[in-house]
Amino acid sequence: MKQLWMLMAWFAFSSAVDAQYKFDVYPTYKGDDLGLTYTSTSSVFRIWSPPASAMELKLYTTGTGGVAKETIQMQKRESGTWVAVVNRDLKGMFYTVRAKINDQWSNEVTDPYAKATGINGQRAQVIDLKETNPVGWENDHSPNFSDQNLPTDAIIYELHIRDATIDEESGAQHKGKFLGLAETGTKNKAGLSTGLDHIKELGVTHVHLLPFYDYNSVDETKTGQYNWGYDPVNYNVPEGSYSTDASDGGTRIRELKQMIQAFHQNGLRVVMDVVYNHTALTETSNFNQLVPGYYYRQKPDGSFSDATACGNETASERAMMRKFMLESVLYWVKEYHIDGFRFDLMGVHDIQTMNLISDTLHKIKPDILLYGEGWTAGASPYPEEKRAVKKNAHLLKGIAVFSDDIRDGIKGSVFDIKDRGFATGKTANTESVKFGIVASLPHLQIDMSKVNYSKEPYASSPANVITYAECHDNNILWDKIALSVPDASEEERKKMHELALTIVLTSQGIPFLHAGSEFLRSKFGEENSYNKGDSVNAIRWGLKTKNLALYQTVASLIKMRKEHGAFRLTSSRSVNNNIRFLDTQVEGVIAYKLDMSFFKETKKETWSNCLIIFNGTSQSQTIQIPGEWKLVNKGKALSDKMVVKQILVNPREAIILAEVPEQRQYYLGGSKE
Ligand code: CA
Repeated sequence: MKQLWMLMAWFAFSSAVDAQYKFDVYPTYKGDDLGLTYTSTSSVFRIWSPPASAMELKLYTTGTGGVAKETIQMQKRESGTWVAVVNRDLKGMFYTVRAKINDQWSNEVTDPYAKATGINGQRAQVIDLKETNPVGWENDHSPNFSDQNLPTDAIIYELHIRDATIDEESGAQHKGKFLGLAETGTKNKAGLSTGLDHIKELGVTHVHLLPFYDYNSVDETKTGQYNWGYDPVNYNVPEGSYSTDASDGGTRIRELKQMIQAFHQNGLRVVMDVVYNHTALTETSNFNQLVPGYYYRQKPDGSFSDATACGNETASERAMMRKFMLESVLYWVKEYHIDGFRFDLMGVHDIQTMNLISDTLHKIKPDILLYGEGWTAGASPYPEEKRAVKKNAHLLKGIAVFSDDIRDGIKGSVFDIKDRGFATGKTANTESVKFGIVASLPHLQIDMSKVNYSKEPYASSPANVITYAECHDNNILWDKIALSVPDASEEERKKMHELALTIVLTSQGIPFLHAGSEFLRSKFGEENSYNKGDSVNAIRWGLKTKNLALYQTVASLIKMRKEHGAFRLTSSRSVNNNIRFLDTQVEGVIAYKLDMSFFKETKKETWSNCLIIFNGTSQSQTIQIPGEWKLVNKGKALSDKMVVKQILVNPREAIILAEVPEQRQYYLGGSKE
């Protein structure tokens, strides 16, 4: 038995080595012309497939159905590439490719570098990209979001395109489409702004849109289907179901550009959610049909490894996958003016690739915003020390990771519906929230042994961390509170919700909100709503009317964050120097002083210190405070009343106090207000 086991193990090992060796001998193509290079007089197609012995290009007049109008033998060229040149205008034609490998023809697939496709992304389309530019596109530019456009100046708003306007009360004409989010002047029944206008009014700086590359799970020939879209098919093509005509490759591109242009014109930047960690299809994906195995990691037995829990995981460390990812993000920035990327399951990708992407993108757009999930959904065969996981965050350059420590510290574990967090009464989470307040940086006053997940700090600067309480995954905050604190009244739950969002918007790092949370959006207890349709997912704009007070509080907190640089510290050192936690004597109550005196030098700061108190307990607490303070009313105006020595903090209440010295002291340049 033992010998047989050893023989099997040796066989598995040698075939894995074999596979790796085979990939290593594939030449790397260095050119930047993979895919289609189009002009009105010629189309040049270049596809990389080192193992192919022959390759064909098929031309069609339609995006689906029918027979090929022409089949062209591609010619073998340098570094494993195959080329076909057609010297006439192919604009509007569709195409596929197939490779002959080990004497077998692959399926016909799309060119992985395709920039346009027909319906459902089945065939690539020849288009003239210049014709997809909306009027004024040449003048489109990314708006400034602060004086210096630093990552910590960003306030991210995570949104699904369809969710934003599909509700009857959105007032949008193009409901659920790219164009719906490009509409201004839309209002709900009460006359309150919706969609783009609402986002602008709220004051966030970056709109992070769930996947809008071409994904698999929605049939573009039908209407009313729903999916988040974490199942990529054509990485460089916009999703057809968000356009008004999915059968025309140019329309989806033009309408996406119109949406981005509208955001930019309204002072908002656009972050694209990208999913390079796996492909929707595995054996039958275009990657795998053209170069079997190459773009994916394998288990020792040669089968697909699956750190994504989606059937495969890509191999970013292999030269041509790394090149693909890099060229893909570059394309989105250059062609679509994208302002940032959120990398799904970034912990699957290798650090070297992520830093190469960051360096390259920052060269062409210095204030681009990059962040990702520093974890995987399963085991990966690639060594963890080389992957972009959370604990390696300090090795990432110009890329932030999501802090699940503060996320679950605030509201309880996402893996246990009943678990509570600091804002919902679990006082043991106090230290986890404090660790989040300092953006996962080393701080002398944090007892790391009491932090929920991380046992040591992992960030190198506040810009290294996304501070949040919820996102599209798992229960939305309002539902999580209802499920984990079922006995609480609605009024109590509202206080918890407001406390949670106040923690996010006052903490260091890059704050991140899930759309609709500002007016108590619910997904009706649906824990994973990725395919649950509009009835669960749509943002109901009537909620804005119903919960207007919370919306106004969130907007005022955002305004306060933008007005005071100390909420947006930029270095580990400044976080250590400027944040002092007070000893509140009560577990479940956090109080800290935020020193703002440094910012008076900018002549924009009127406060010298800020005192922030969070009462996560169910009792009123009297907290001793040093000095004299003015109460900041929900992030809005300062009250005139002075607060000295002590303050009563109600259950689940967040209190912000400001120390405001004589104006003259700080306003040498003149008076303010
Ligand atoms: Ca699609």
